[in-house]
Amino acid sequence: MPVPVSQMWTVASYVIGQKLAGRKQYPLVLMLEPLFRCNLACAGCGKIQYPAHILKKDLSPEECFRAVDECGAPMVSIPGGEPLMHPEIDKIVEGLVARKKYIYLCTNALLLKEKIHLFKPSKYLTFSVHLDGQREEHDLAVCREGGYDIAVAAVKEALKRGFRVTTNTTLFDGANPKSVRAFFDEMMDLGVEGMMLSPGYSYDKAPDQKHFLGRARTRRMFRAILSNRKKRWQFNLSPLFLEFLMGKRTYPCTPWGMPTYNVFGWQKPCYLLQDGYAESFKELLETTEWQNYGTESGNPACANCMVHSGYEASAVNATFSSLGGFLATVKATLFSSYKDEEALRLLDEPQAAVNPLIQIAPTQSAHHDLQETRA
Ligand code: SF4
Repeated sequence: MPVPVSQMWTVASYVIGQKLAGRKQYPLVLMLEPLFRCNLACAGCGKIQYPAHILKKDLSPEECFRAVDECGAPMVSIPGGEPLMHPEIDKIVEGLVARKKYIYLCTNALLLKEKIHLFKPSKYLTFSVHLDGQREEHDLAVCREGGYDIAVAAVKEALKRGFRVTTNTTLFDGANPKSVRAFFDEMMDLGVEGMMLSPGYSYDKAPDQKHFLGRARTRRMFRAILSNRKKRWQFNLSPLFLEFLMGKRTYPCTPWGMPTYNVFGWQKPCYLLQDGYAESFKELLETTEWQNYGTESGNPACANCMVHSGYEASAVNATFSSLGGFLATVKATLFSSYKDEEALRLLDEPQAAVNPLIQIAPTQSAHHDLQETRA
C-alpha cells in the first residue's frame, strides 16, 4: 500500500467536500518553498539561480503557517531549495503536523542523517528523497559524485528510525528506461513506501536547456518505463496521472491544484512559471488569467509541460468527477499491469547520450531549440 488509508480517506473526503460545495478551483497540495538556497547545483533546476540577496531569504514558520491555513489544502509539499538548510525547518514541520497536514519534505538527503534527530516519526511526515535514477544517472543529474550513496544511506537511516520515506524522480531526455526500471527495483528493495515521477520542465533559469522532453517523447519514454509493470512497484502518485504520462489519457492543466507560496508570495500561475505574485491565495485565484495557461491555451511556456504539479491534480479530480473515473482508478490500482509488446521493444532502442556532469551555461539559442510537440 503506497499511501496510508488515513491519508487516502483525508484526501478523498476533502475532494468530495469541495465538489459538494460546488468549488471549481480548489487546491490539493500546497507547494511551500521556504527558501531557494541549496547544497547542490543541478543542471536541470531553475530555483538556485536567484541573486544572493534572494537566496539568503527564508520564510518564517509563522509565514508558512499563514499560507497553509489560508490555502486549506490537505497536503503540503516542501521543496526549495533544500528545506533541510532552513534554520527552522523542524518548527515548520512541527506546526504542520499539529495542523494534521500530510507533509512531503522534498530533500536531496545530503543533510538528512545529520538533521534527522530534529524530527519525530509521524504518519503526517514523509521524507521525499530526490533520486533521479541509479547511481551513475543520479550523480550526473545532480552534478555531484557520491550523491546517490549519501541519499541511499540517509533513506536507510530514516526507515530504520520509523519515518515514512518516498523517492521523487525527475526524468530528462536521455533517461534509459531499462535503468529506470532497475532503479524502481532498487528502491523497492530499500523499502521505500512509494515512488514519485515527473518529466523535467524547461525552467528559463535552468543551466541545461537541452535535455527537457517534448510531449511526444515524454509519452514514449513513460510508455516504455511503466508498461509491463511489476506488481511490487509502488507509486506515490495518482494511477490516472501515470496513465496520462503513458499517453493513455489527456487532461487539461489544473495549475491552481498545486499552488506555490514562497519568499515572493503566491506565485502566478503555477510552480513552474513566474508571471507575477499575489499577496493572498484568494487574490491568486481571482486575479490570475487562468485561460492563458495549460497546453491547450497555446501558451508556448506550457507547450511541452506534463509535470505533476500541473496535471496530477487534474487526474485526482477525474477520479472523483464520475463513476467512470472512480472505476478507472480502482482498475488501474488493483488490476492493471499494462502489458504492451511494443513497449518491450522500446526498452531495447538505443538511448541518446546523457548530459555531462557539469553545469552548462544557458544560451538563447539552446532555449529556442526546444522541441514543441503540443497535443
Ligand atoms: S502547463 Fe505546466 S507550465 Fe503551464 S500552467 Fe500548467 S503546470 Fe504551469
